[in-house]
Amino acid sequence: MATRVASKKSPAKKGAAAKPAPKKWTSRAVTRLIEAGSMTECQHCEERVKFRARHRDMQVICNIYVKGVWDHVEHFHEECYLDAKEPFGPPEE
Ligand SMILES: [Zn+2]
Repeated sequence: MATRVASKKSPAKKGAAAKPAPKKWTSRAVTRLIEAGSMTECQHCEERVKFRARHRDMQVICNIYVKGVWDHVEHFHEECYLDAKEPFGPPEE
């Protein structure tokens, strides 16, 4: 009686445009809150990316990949990153 249709585990379509190809490891940028004890320097203005109590300052952290291999991290003040014209693409949240 119960005819079971081969149940495929098909991911629910959410109407999002199909994205091509899996992501390659390329340099990318994310926006993060500057944390207490941050000791990095901004690659753009060369000033310390400093945590300030009560200022919820944002920084942009870029993971730099060279030929698909992680190389190093660069930090920017958020406004400096924009000022530098987003060298590693628009930062993700
Ligand atoms: Zn800066």
